[in-house]
Amino acid sequence: MTQRTFSIIKPDAVRKGYTGAILAEIDKAGFKIVSLKKASISKPQAQGFYHVHSERPFFSDLCDFMSSGPLVLMVLEKENAIADLRKLMGATNPANAEEGTIRKKFAGSIQENAIHGSDAEDTAAFEIGYWFAGYELV
Ligand code: GDP
Repeated sequence: MTQRTFSIIKPDAVRKGYTGAILAEIDKAGFKIVSLKKASISKPQAQGFYHVHSERPFFSDLCDFMSSGPLVLMVLEKENAIADLRKLMGATNPANAEEGTIRKKFAGSIQENAIHGSDAEDTAAFEIGYWFAGYELV
């Protein structure tokens, strides 16, 4: 079943010049880029996006990081896109990420970990709708 997921190339990876290399990994893995935009987001926008983590101790630092510089917002599509992107990303903490994953190759720390990917169908729907209007997804 063709499925859509939402992804971010996070500010650390954009800052380090890894945008093209990460897009190449996504392309090689068979994802279609439905929509893509580079943006700088505010801390309140980051707080709304990560509201499920609002009680976590790292919430404020995470939102400062996500609003610290440009990032790349994407909607990706393929069979089994949500699970396949999570696999391609690797573990949240790059120290635990498998060889060949994006986080193993490009992430610097558990917070500055290069890429975001939705973890389920309901979160993918929320996240796509949070950053993209319907006319950007045709
Ligand atoms: P993900 O689904 O693999 O991105 O991980 P989570 O949903 O658990 O966490 C969201 C994001 O919060 C992660 O991608 C990291 O950027 C950050 N994060 C998660 N755990 C920690 C932590 O223990 N410390 C810090 N500083 N950031 C974290």
